[in-house]
Amino acid sequence: MTTSALTDTQREQLRVLLEQRKEQLLQALDAIQRDTLAVASDAARGDAEAPGSPRDQANNMAADMVRDAEAARDHAELVAVRAALERMADGSYGECMDCGQGVGAARLLAQPSALRCIACQSKAEARAKH
Ligand SMILES: [Zn+2]
Repeated sequence: MTTSALTDTQREQLRVLLEQRKEQLLQALDAIQRDTLAVASDAARGDAEAPGSPRDQANNMAADMVRDAEAARDHAELVAVRAALERMADGSYGECMDCGQGVGAARLLAQPSALRCIACQSKAEARAKH
């Protein structure tokens, strides 16, 4: 607890940001899921009457891929946001997972689910490129 440079006010502000982000992501994922179900039932009806043209099928596949990519990205962020809320609950929030120093209030306000300080994040990204 003593290594965190966050004030109580900043911590509360970040908790609210994370909770809001979590709600947004849950709603976005819910909308994507409803959209997928609607398309699936449209397709079922379409098959019964007249099969879609190859062009329609290609468009549907492209739309599916975009939706899947969005869902995957939203889901990954939701996992990160939930993990940040858990760290907040156990008191480790705001500490860099690599060096244990404070991540920094400015960085956290820009990206509340950040796991590393800027120095360690740059190093991690440099490692990922190799
Ligand atoms: Zn660090």
